[in-house]
This record gives sequence, C-alpha cells and structure tokens, in this order.
Amino acid sequence: MLGLLAFGLGWAATLWGLQFNRMPGGVSVFWPLAGVALALALRGGWPTLPALWLGASWALSNAGLAPWLAGALALGNALAAGLAALWLRRAGFHLRLEQTRDLWLLAGVGAGGAAVLAAAWAVAALAMANELDATALPRAWLLRWSGETLGLFVLGVPLLGLGRHTVLRAFGQGRWLVNAPLLAGAVASGILALTLLSRGAPLGPLHFLPHVLLSWLALRAGLAVASSAVLLLLLGMAGPWLAPVLPALVEPPWAYLGSMLVLTGLLHALNGDLSRTQQRWRLALGHAGLGVAEWNLHGAQGYASPRWCQLLADPHGQRTGTLAGWLQDVAPEHRAALDADLAALAQPEQASVWRELRLNTPKGPLWAELHVVVAERDHNGAPLRLLATLADVGERRHAEERQRLSSSLFQNLHEGLLVVDAELRTIDANPTYCTLVDSPRDLLLGSVPTLLRAPQADLSTRQQQAAMWAGLRVTGSWNGEVSVRRRNGALVALRTTVFTVPGPDGTPRYHVVMVSDMTVQRQQRERLERQAHFDELTQLPNRARLTRLLTEAMAVTDREGHLLCVVNLDLDHFKALNDVFGHATGDQLLVQLAQCLRGALRERADGSDAVARLGGDEFVLLLKVSSAAEARLALQRVLRVVAQPFIPAPGAAPLAVQASAGATLYPLDRSDADTLLRHAAQAMYSAKQAGRGGGMFFDPESSRRHEERVMAMGRVQEALDQGELVLYYQPKADLRAGRVLGFEALLRWNHPEQGLLGPAHFLPLLENTGLSARVGDWVMSQGLEQLDRWRAQGLDVTVSVNVSARHLQEPDFAQRLGELLARHAPGLGQHLELEVLETAALANVAFTSALMERCRLLGVRFALDDFGTGYSTLTYLKKLPVQVLKIDRSFVQNMLEDAQDRAIVEGVLSLARTFGCTAVAEGVETPAQARALLDLGCTLGQGSGIAVPMPAADAERFARQWPGLFALKPAVGA
Ligand code: C2E
Ligand code: CA
Ligand code: CA
Repeated sequence: MLGLLAFGLGWAATLWGLQFNRMPGGVSVFWPLAGVALALALRGGWPTLPALWLGASWALSNAGLAPWLAGALALGNALAAGLAALWLRRAGFHLRLEQTRDLWLLAGVGAGGAAVLAAAWAVAALAMANELDATALPRAWLLRWSGETLGLFVLGVPLLGLGRHTVLRAFGQGRWLVNAPLLAGAVASGILALTLLSRGAPLGPLHFLPHVLLSWLALRAGLAVASSAVLLLLLGMAGPWLAPVLPALVEPPWAYLGSMLVLTGLLHALNGDLSRTQQRWRLALGHAGLGVAEWNLHGAQGYASPRWCQLLADPHGQRTGTLAGWLQDVAPEHRAALDADLAALAQPEQASVWRELRLNTPKGPLWAELHVVVAERDHNGAPLRLLATLADVGERRHAEERQRLSSSLFQNLHEGLLVVDAELRTIDANPTYCTLVDSPRDLLLGSVPTLLRAPQADLSTRQQQAAMWAGLRVTGSWNGEVSVRRRNGALVALRTTVFTVPGPDGTPRYHVVMVSDMTVQRQQRERLERQAHFDELTQLPNRARLTRLLTEAMAVTDREGHLLCVVNLDLDHFKALNDVFGHATGDQLLVQLAQCLRGALRERADGSDAVARLGGDEFVLLLKVSSAAEARLALQRVLRVVAQPFIPAPGAAPLAVQASAGATLYPLDRSDADTLLRHAAQAMYSAKQAGRGGGMFFDPESSRRHEERVMAMGRVQEALDQGELVLYYQPKADLRAGRVLGFEALLRWNHPEQGLLGPAHFLPLLENTGLSARVGDWVMSQGLEQLDRWRAQGLDVTVSVNVSARHLQEPDFAQRLGELLARHAPGLGQHLELEVLETAALANVAFTSALMERCRLLGVRFALDDFGTGYSTLTYLKKLPVQVLKIDRSFVQNMLEDAQDRAIVEGVLSLARTFGCTAVAEGVETPAQARALLDLGCTLGQGSGIAVPMPAADAERFARQWPGLFALKPAVGA
C-alpha cells in the first residue's frame, strides 16, 4: 500500500517537475521528487524507496529519457533521500519541524547533503549519456542542486508536517474561520504577485502581501499549513485552469518562492521554540503546584495561571486577578503584616516578599506560601507590576504540626524513648530515657545501648536478647522486661517495647525502643509473691509454699532413698501467754522461735531441710534423715531448741517455752503431702494428750488399727440399725429354793456371716464412744420390754441389764431411764436391776452415787458387777447406794481349790451382810460349787451350771420348768 502510494507520488512529482524543466539536457530548476523522496523515506522508511524509484523511472522514461538514464536519475534521488533520512533520524530530527534546530538539520542534511549528492549523481549520469558537455557541468550541477533543494523544501516540508493532527490544529474548533481565508488569501495573493512579477510590473505593496499573510498563517496554523499554501500556489500556477488568465505557463521566480518558505519556516520554528519554553515553565510551575498571578498595580486586570485559579477556587481569575481582589481572601490575622510587607516593596532595594498565610477561599481555608516579586517599576522606582506565586502548604503545615506534636511528646513522655539506626547507634533519646539509664544524652548519641547489645552479658541476658531479635525479625516488634545497669551501678528493671521502622526498601531503618521503669512494680510484685508464699511475721514459708517444698522434698527422697521427717510443732500454753502478756509479746516469741528453728536447720546444699509456719503457734519442719533413730534424735533436738528461755518484757523473769511435736517418716508413711502433714499433726495431738512437752511419731500401724476400729464401729451401728443385735438371757436362781428369780440380759450379735457373736467381739470396740451409749439404750429398752412381757405373762422375774461406764455418764441417763419406764406398767422399775462394773462405779464415786440415788427414785436397783476385781475400799462402798454385789466368777471358779479365793468369797458375803446387800455368785458351773456357796450362806447364783444364756423364748420355758438343784450336773471330778 505504502509502496503503491510512493510509486504514484514519485511518478506524479517527476512528471510535474518536468513541466518546469526549461534547462537543456533535462536539468531542472525545480525537482519535486527530492522532497517527496525524503518525506517518504522519513515517514515510511526504506521500503518505500524502491517503489518511489520505479515511479520516478517510469515518469522520466515517459518524458523521453532513455530508460537506463531515467532509472539512474531516479536511483540517485532515492539513494540520496535514504541516506538523508538515515542521518536525520540519527540526529534526533522531529518531523513536525517545530524547533529551529530541526529546520537547520533539514537545511544542513537536505540541502547540504542529499541535494549535493543527488545533483552530482544526476549530472554524472547526464554526462555519461552525453547529454552535457564538460564545460556545462558546474553550471548544470548548480542548477540541479538548487532544483533539488527547492523541491526538498516546497514538497518535503508540507509532506512531512501535514497530518490529521496538524490539520485539526489549524482548522478545528472554529479556527478555520480565520485560517481558511488566510490560506486562500495567501495562495491568491501569491498567484497574483507572481503573475504581476512575470509581467514585469514594478515592485509594489502587493508583492509583499503573500509574505505577510503566509507569516501570519505560519504563526496561527503552523508550518505544515503555511508550506502547503506555497505548494498550492505552485500547483495553482502549474494547473491548466490558469491558462485563460496567464497567457503561458510562467516560470516561477524561485528566489521569491524560496524567501516565502524561509520566512514561514523561521517564524514557525521561532514560535515553536518560544511556546515550548512557555510550556516548559507552565509545566514546571504546574507540577510544582505553584500558582502564578501577575498584578498590574495601575488599572488593568492581571493574569492568573490555571493552578492559581484552582488554588483560590476562582475559575477565571476574576476575583484574584487584581491585588485588591486577592487581598479580600487573606485571613484577617495576616492582613496587617502582609500590608506592611507589600508597602515595603515600594523601596527599590526591596525586591520580594515571602510569607506563609491563611487564605479564606470559597472552598475553605487554604494555608499558602506566598512569594511576591516586583516585575516592573516606574522611573521613580515605584512598583508597576507584581508577580505572585502561591503554593499550598497545608499538607506541610499539617506535617509540621504533627512533627511539633511528636517532638513535644518525645520530650515530655513519661516513657523513655530511644531511636537507633540499623547499626544500633543511638540517634536520639528523650529526657526520660536519659534519666532512667542515668546517662546524659550527649554520651548516648552515636553509642550502641547495652539494652540492645550487651557483649559481656550473662547467659540469661544473652538469651533474652536473642529472643528479642528473633521477635523483631519475625513480627517487627518485641516486648519484655529487661534489666539494665545504670551508670551508678544500680540495676533498673525496664518494661521494654522495641519495634522496627523499615526504610522505603523494606529493610530495617530504625529501631525504636520504649522503656518504662518497672523497678517499683517489680518490687511490689516480689513483695506480693513473698506475701503469697511467706509468712509476714516470721518470714518463714507459709502453708502454700510448704506444700510445694514438701512435694519437692518427697521427690528428692524418692530419688535418693533417704528418709524425710515431717515434724509438726505446736507451742504449749501459747494462748495463755498471749492472754497474759499481750499479742505483741506473743508475736515476739514467734519471731524468736522462727529464728531459732531456722538456725537449727542443718545447712544442706540441696536445701531439703526447711521450716514453715502454718499459722498461730504451729510450725512444720522438713528434715532429711537416714534412719528412724536419727529422726528421733532430730525431733529431740528440735524440742531442745524450742525450749530456750524467753524474756517476755524487759526486766521480766524469763519464761520456759515448751512445745509438743509430732512427726511422721516418709516413705515409711507412704502418703501424699497433705496426709503426711495431717499425720504429723495427729502425732502432735497424741503428744499433747500424752502430757505436753514431748515428741511422738505417727505410727502407721496404730493408725491402721484405728481406722479398722472406725470401720468396725460403723459395722456395729449397721447391725443395730438392721436388727442384727439380740439379747440372750441367763437365769439367776435361788440355789436353796430351786427357783429362777430373774435373768441377766446379755448382748449377742447375730452376724450374717460369722454367726452368733458374744459381746467380747464387738463391745470393746465401742468402749468410750457415743455408740456404746446408743447400744446401751437399745439393750435397756429391749430388756424392759421383755421384762414387761414376762411379768404380764405372770412370770415373777427380774431382769438385770449391764450398763457401761460411758452410758452411765450420759448426762440424761436417769431422765432417759424414766422415759423408758414410763412406757410400761407402773412399778416395772422395781423389777429392773442395773449392773455396773465395780471399776466403772468407783471411777467417780460422787457422780455415780448421785446418779444411783436418782434412779432409785424410779424403783431401780443397782448391782456392782465383777465385784472383787476392783479395789473398792469400804469408805467408797459405803457411799454407793447399791443393793447387789455380784461376786466375780474368777473367785467362784477357784474357791474349791484355792483357799484365798474362798476367803475372798467369804469376805464379800460378810461385806454384803454388813451393808445390807444381796450377794450373787457368778460363774456357778458345778453342783460342788453350788453346795460350797450354800454352805457359806450364799443362796443366789448364776452360771453355766444352772444355764447358759439363751433366747428369750427358751428363758421363759426354763423359768417355768427348772427343776432346781436336783438338776445340777455332778461337779467335774466329784
Ligand atoms: P458379765 O456381766 O460378767 O456377764 C456374764 C458373763 O459370764 C457372760 O458372758 C456369760 O455368758 C458368762 N458366763 C455365765 N455363766 C458362766 C460360767 O458358768 N462360766 C463362765 N466362764 N462364764 C459364764 P458374755 O455374755 O460373753 O458377756 C461378757 C460380758 O459382756 C459381760 O460380763 C458384761 O460385762 C458384758 N455384757 C454383756 N452384755 C452386755 C450388755 O448388754 N451391756 C453391757 N454394757 N455389757 C454387756
Ligand atoms: Ca453382768
Ligand atoms: Ca460379771
């Protein structure tokens, strides 16, 4: 396509050029192909040149040149154009020819290079074709050269410059209204002037009109359009339409045409240079954000740049295009100073004013930096024109404001702030930081703070710093507590936050360190921690800490295989001391004691020995020992340490302090920490019970027995609740009369697994417990019921019930007995006998006798059981209101063989007679014993010889059917 166009253009241009050829030998004075070829080579590149060559060759051979000559001439033009295009591109030539530089380039390379070459080539070719003789060569070359140059400018310039863009710029948006008539005028006046010239008319104003019009056109519409006008002018002259007007085709005066082209070209280029300079400044000012205004101080409206209008929200610069108008916008607080500044400009030596001020624009307030320069003064030096520039500094002021705020914050912050660079060198430190580390700022600047890098620091500090850098690398920040040594050597604990400020490339640029003094908080925390784990008064570990110490000591013991002695120590009579001397003295004693105990601990590397205060006057010691014997010695030593004399008040007599201690040995006592402490306390209570001031060891064995006893008691309670307890009855008989007088109720346990159990199996368990009283109550009510039933059935018997010492001591014993009796027939109490062990009755004679008196009011009788085994003195016996003495069976059993026992039986019998009591012999097993008793005057007996204890139903039958003494089995061995 481009090739076709080039071919067409080349052909047309050559043909047209030939029209003007008036010189001999085909040397033309106007050779348009030169301009077409250069324009095509520059716009279309090398590929268009062959087509161009073909077109031109064809046109030339059509004009009558030998084909080889035509080809050679065309080739000269094509090659010259190609070379020139290459040079121009290399030199940075602009196709639009808007700079004088481009114009000079075109002139230099085109006229001085391509045209010279092409002309030489053409003349050489013509010479070779014998069209020129040697003498005509220089002139032919000169003509040829001028033709090439003219062609280059006349066709080359419009072909290079013309385009959619230039046409639009020249004729778009109504500009054609002026430019089209200008173009037409220039062409028409040109043709007219040339016609006049060719007719030899004298030089008149009309000859200059085309130059003026073309210059004007070049300034308004650009070089491309102006040079097109010249082209049109030529075309117009070449066209056949002028034939009627012009008698013959005139040869245009090339110099005249040339001057037109040169003038328009120069004007265009100069204008281009000027507007580019203007554009540069406008761009620079616009991009710098500077608004520019020019104020005429006398009269006329000034100039305002677009940026100025935009800044002041004054779209056409009408309001602020004058100084007076603009001053309206200035904030009142700046007006006075500004007026003074502007007034000072009247002095010739004052050239400019600079001020930062606030303007109240319709858009809102604007902080601006104003520069005013005097652009022109009158002959007296008074300003005529002012040039003002305005820059929006709101952003900067804002930043400055923030900067001021930050800096004030930095200076006055309660936290210490330190900024270091990437190499950790201090850039700045605020006063708080300097105070915290006790170092003047000057000393810190440029140095690496030890907080961030301490080369000789200990391991933990190094680890902490490693953690810090790791944190900074990963998250960009770190916080923790760091201890720093001040210049005076004191350690400060600093709560530290470090974060990294990256540079634009993302690598760490600064590190900001924020520190606050934690020393007070840390001390407070340590105090709180102490309070949580140490006793305030004695500074010994408290219970919480003891538990931990004990657990640790147990672990050590397990590991090392020794023994751990856990001692519980409790002062004796501490309460009394407190009451007498006051709590302050008591506290003093505790403090002294704590010191003594601490001093008494053996120093051990592993710190396994410890003393703690549980509260009050209770202490616990943990002692590492190798044997039970060593533990015993240690316990004694502790007690000796405690037994230091204590002086309660100045001048007062020293007090003997004494404590009771209990201990347990782990792992012989394989319990957990809490249980060990409980066992030690239990042992301490035992020591107190055993008479204070001593030490006792917890005995796991006895504890086990104790636990078993508790379990068994629980089982007895169950038996009572589930009716497994029953009463058996053993008859008490008149041996002489052969009659059953009554029954002794004896307790049995109908055990589901073990069968019938006698009281020896379970009563001792209940001894001295509340359960024994409850069981006793049950026996009493059962016995009474049975008695009531028997008597209701007409069986005249008594029932004896055994009463334990504990039961007897129940505060409401007598009252309870009364209640039970009240449930039955009146007078039943007279048939009830209560058997009390001699030993129990004598334990507290006054109490027992009072109780017996009360019960006797209910008709109840008392028997002293197992009589003879205690140490009854006559005085005591006299005081007890008893009616029956039961001679202990041990005497009865041996009275036949042992004279001493027999004497005791006789003694008891005589005692009974003296005190008016009945005597009953227990354990009558043989007729011989019965006979012997009768011989001694003892008629009442009880024992397996008469009957073993039996269920109530059998007892009734027995009472009714007992045959008396005859039924006695023969005495063993009799
Ligand atoms: P005790 O009050 O001296 O009761 C007599 C004990 O002697 C009974 O033993 C009885 O079975 C036994 N016995 C009876 N005749 C003979 C004999 O000819 N030879 C021998 N060797 N023993 C004979 P048991 O029933 O085992 O009672 C033992 C003790 O238990 C009683 O001694 C009594 O002190 C106590 N006891 C029994 N029942 C009760 C009760 O209900 N309450 C209280 N507090 N103690 C009771
Ligand atoms: Ca008894
Ligand atoms: Ca007895």
